[in-house]
Amino acid sequence: MTRQRVIVVGGGPGGLATALRLLGQGYTVELLEAADRVGGRMRGLQAGDYAFDSGPTILQMPQLYDALFASAGLNRADYITFTPLEPYTRLRFWDDTPLDLTTDLDHVKHQLAAWRDDLPQALDRWYAEHQHKFATGYGPYLSEPARSPLGYLRPQEITTALSFRPWETLYQHFWNAFHDDRLVYALSYPAKYLGMHPTLSASVFSLIPYLEMAFGVWHPQGGFRALAQAIAQAIQDLGGKIHVSTPVRQVWIEQGQVRGVELDTGERMAADAVVVNADFAQAVQTLMPPAAQGKYTDRYFARKQFSCSTFMLYLGVNRRYDHLPHHQLYLSDHILRRDRPFVDDSALDTVNPPFYVCNPTPVDGSNAPAGHSTLYVLVPIPHTGYSVNWQTQAQSYRDLIINRLPLLGFDDVAQHIVAETCYTADTWQDEYAVYLGAVFNLSHTWQQLGPLRPPIRSETTERLYWVGGAVHPGSGLMTILEAAKNTARFVSQDLSQLVQTH
Ligand SMILES: Cc1cc2nc3c(=O)[nH]c(=O)nc-3n(C[C@H](O)[C@H](O)[C@H](O)COP(=O)(O)OP(=O)(O)OC[C@H]3O[C@@H](n4cnc5c(N)ncnc54)[C@H](O)[C@@H]3O)c2cc1C
Repeated sequence: MTRQRVIVVGGGPGGLATALRLLGQGYTVELLEAADRVGGRMRGLQAGDYAFDSGPTILQMPQLYDALFASAGLNRADYITFTPLEPYTRLRFWDDTPLDLTTDLDHVKHQLAAWRDDLPQALDRWYAEHQHKFATGYGPYLSEPARSPLGYLRPQEITTALSFRPWETLYQHFWNAFHDDRLVYALSYPAKYLGMHPTLSASVFSLIPYLEMAFGVWHPQGGFRALAQAIAQAIQDLGGKIHVSTPVRQVWIEQGQVRGVELDTGERMAADAVVVNADFAQAVQTLMPPAAQGKYTDRYFARKQFSCSTFMLYLGVNRRYDHLPHHQLYLSDHILRRDRPFVDDSALDTVNPPFYVCNPTPVDGSNAPAGHSTLYVLVPIPHTGYSVNWQTQAQSYRDLIINRLPLLGFDDVAQHIVAETCYTADTWQDEYAVYLGAVFNLSHTWQQLGPLRPPIRSETTERLYWVGGAVHPGSGLMTILEAAKNTARFVSQDLSQLVQTH
């Protein structure tokens, strides 16, 4: 019997992980990627002699990558090495206080004791509470596929849900635990990467800082672009085919069933199932014939809340900053503001924006010539739905941010820049095909989570699936790996039924 064939459209993290899992399940898999290399937002870039990660820099839960490779009978360590980072993040607050987050809980508590006597105990309580939340909540809310709202009404799960105090925001959750704004924002800043201010974000995401403290933050050697290449290599080793520079024009659908895809060249490729990893909001409107778009119209997306975008500086410099940690974040006092635009990134903060710098060269010298280094600077900015004219604004914004790098100890950067590349919201939209340039996808409000997020299984078309940051459980590599696991499971359930009915 010929093996059933699955086409994956897009080689972002979700597409790559799904392709590898499907190969592990014995399917014939072809992955079609529009860009000249795989990786999507993490495909990386080169400027002169310097190589940069373009998007993700924070790797959480390395065990998920081990499980991904193991699902295809492979050993992750044969493909890529992960290095733990300690401290995993250094924060500097508006009042110049520093805080090093590390998996060494005693070290964190030691720093907090200097802030207030009762904080170490409060951290212990919070940590113990999250060990329980992780044990009971990670499976049903992040790892399992979303169910209908009624599906969550099982007595044991109601108890679990209530332990998350879902009526609280992330800010309220941390404020109730610590009563110290610095610690509140130190632990809730990942909300930014879910597209929201902590005062708007769901408290369930307090699991993320716990996961970082419990399992660490890691760096894949060679960067996240090497991680993408490693998964691609595994796919090819198992006989999967990857076609780069191969944009898909449309999903080919007949009588409500997927038949394959049509390429930009006009060529049609048949498949038993199609998994689309291209950005959901973008792809549902461009790759789906209008009759199969279902409720996902312009009006639907206009009513939805999307994440911020990011202003990026990728700097190649002819010096090293070996005394500074890998991940650093400057939290300006603007993060304390509760008014627009500070709370929803609806206008550009040109005065005192929070920003993040990744300094990967000390743990991974592969990205720059000897004695040189690369710096990656990220500033949250409005998505393209809010009008910022980057043609006129980019240079002055770049200068503002460069002048603020000493706040994190990066002195004299301007004098040492040899190569640089700047991304704005327009770059993410135009060059990475990200709807509104909203790089963290649909925001993670309660109204846009679980069963209220677009589902993995298409609602209109049989054997068509969506994987990536827009579907349950959400944006970010960790959650996308969970989505990929569920996508592969749905494909095999549906394709085995197809065999039975033929
Ligand atoms: C600046 C930045 C920092 C981030 N930091 C982190 C972090 O530290 N940790 C973390 O976990 N996450 C982080 N993220 C988020 C993470 O990068 C995204 O959640 C993730 O990349 C989304 O993956 P995806 O699978 O949805 O696909 P994407 O990365 O969006 O990839 C989709 C792919 O589909 C391709 N495609 C689109 N249309 C077509 C077509 N018609 N035909 C063929 N191919 C097509 C695209 O070229 C692309 O390769 C960051 C993102 C950004 C931008």
